[in-house]
Amino acid sequence: MFLRRPSIYAGPVVATLAAAVLVPQVGSAATTPPPARTGAASVGSGAAGVDTSGPYGSMRRTGSAAVALTFDDGPDPKVTPQLLDLLKQQRVKATFCLTGWRARDHPAIVRRIAAEGHTLCNHSWQHLEDLGKRDVATIRKDLEATTRSIQRAVPGVPVQYFRAPYGNFTARLNATARESGMTPLSWNVDDQSWMSKEYGKGSAMVQHIVGVVQKNTRQGSIVLGHDMAKPWTVTAYRTLLPWLRQRFQLIPLPVHTIRVPSALAERLRARKPVRPANG
Ligand SMILES: [Zn+2]
Repeated sequence: MFLRRPSIYAGPVVATLAAAVLVPQVGSAATTPPPARTGAASVGSGAAGVDTSGPYGSMRRTGSAAVALTFDDGPDPKVTPQLLDLLKQQRVKATFCLTGWRARDHPAIVRRIAAEGHTLCNHSWQHLEDLGKRDVATIRKDLEATTRSIQRAVPGVPVQYFRAPYGNFTARLNATARESGMTPLSWNVDDQSWMSKEYGKGSAMVQHIVGVVQKNTRQGSIVLGHDMAKPWTVTAYRTLLPWLRQRFQLIPLPVHTIRVPSALAERLRARKPVRPANG
């Protein structure tokens, strides 16, 4: 039910997540996105560490040769468990971008996602298309409610990624996500599982997803998929997972398990006031 617009940006670049906290915080709406980079399947390493080549500095590549599968908008009481069964059977870990109200309604599925080693990502409370244009207080409240909802199901589980509804990242949205300790998470391969108007809900759609992913996935890709209300996703990935496993290492997006990043963030925050004096 959540339509997603096609990705409008293109291009790679990379790094490691550990340095995410060192990426300068995007401070205001005046911040512009980095120039689009095109071409290449090569994985470079940016000085700042984590890949920031997506909209408004969001992450759109894994930062290594590994590929990350991401599934959005759930948990779906029917489709998500089926997808989890498939991932388990294929021994693949992925990343799930959850909406807050659905996490609230299906805590057992959230627990299963975490227990089976997948990474959790905040996908906002109710998927408002214009969330990134709301005021900071509203955005913060939305993101915090969503993380709380996930952590109510799984106390203490790391929620270190944020994906904007419809991929509508803004400078303000990304800055607020970062302040809450989350990396804005984009993608560079859209499996187009949301395009049921064009491809229907049957075998044509399944074939389309399989074709798009096989054609576009490269080393370092982050693949956008959907489990919410999209049973054809399970059918498509039944074909795709073995195909992908033969060619790539499939990883859940990495999470910090130590407190160093937040300590670093504290130091950076403490340092901020002297910056103007340094010119
Ligand atoms: Zn979504």
